[in-house]
Amino acid sequence: MRKCILRIEGLTKIYGSTIAVVSVSFSLYQGEILGVVGESGSGKSTLVQSLYFDITPTFGKAYLNEEKKNIFELNSQEKRKLKNFDMGMVYQNPYLGLNFEITAGGNVAEKLLMADWRNYSHIRNRLTYLFEKTELPLNRMDDFPSTLSGGMQQRIQIAKALANNPKILFLDEPTSGLDLSVQARFLDLVKKIQQELRISMILVSHDLGVIRLLADRVLVMKDGRIIESGLTDQILEDPQSSYTQLLVNSML
Ligand code: ADP
Ligand code: MG
Repeated sequence: MRKCILRIEGLTKIYGSTIAVVSVSFSLYQGEILGVVGESGSGKSTLVQSLYFDITPTFGKAYLNEEKKNIFELNSQEKRKLKNFDMGMVYQNPYLGLNFEITAGGNVAEKLLMADWRNYSHIRNRLTYLFEKTELPLNRMDDFPSTLSGGMQQRIQIAKALANNPKILFLDEPTSGLDLSVQARFLDLVKKIQQELRISMILVSHDLGVIRLLADRVLVMKDGRIIESGLTDQILEDPQSSYTQLLVNSML
């Protein structure tokens, strides 16, 4: 049995009269890519941003590595530590994930500094490694994100997210702002990284085609709830709910 890296129980987020996420429970296992699919407004971003501590959930529990402590109850310093050392995030919008006031390399170095990297030459070596790993030209390291293409900005987000060797990587619609060919290249990169580094990932997309390429298992969300879940092949071949059938049919 594979190790459970993250277990969520009853995650709920309410904004006034809007219920963004309702009683979501699932587990993420070692080395898998778990896809989360659903139309816009179904609660996908709220879910991953809660897990990355960007948002405080209204109710719910989350456990790391089969430990007994609910990580939503940690204090802010402990949460920051988990985020800095064990997690990475790629946001749909590069403005959320990157600081546009500092260089591409600076953005990645910042994540290393937060994970207590102090030695300048180690940081420089790590930056080179990460730029190579994410297929970023080394000569763009000192350029500002605004001067880079959308695909490069997302690859900088990935380089930054991988910097601290995270156990969990969250990807929230990482390719929805990209042209199809750039999108395909980015997804290939994610797949390669996952096969090489065996990081557990939660990949959010409104596009089942993206999920199909990468995810081992899928959660289907609608109106803040998980309405269906299973192995990706199984969901694609034999979708149970009419909503999932619609998603599958619209993909073909
Ligand atoms: P998705 O990522 O699937 O498009 P979101 O998680 O962004 O969905 O949003 C889920 C629901 O919660 C939507 O109805 C959205 O309008 C609402 N919502 C998200 N963030 C906020 C917020 N800060 N304040 C109020 N409502 C929000
Ligand atoms: Mg979203």
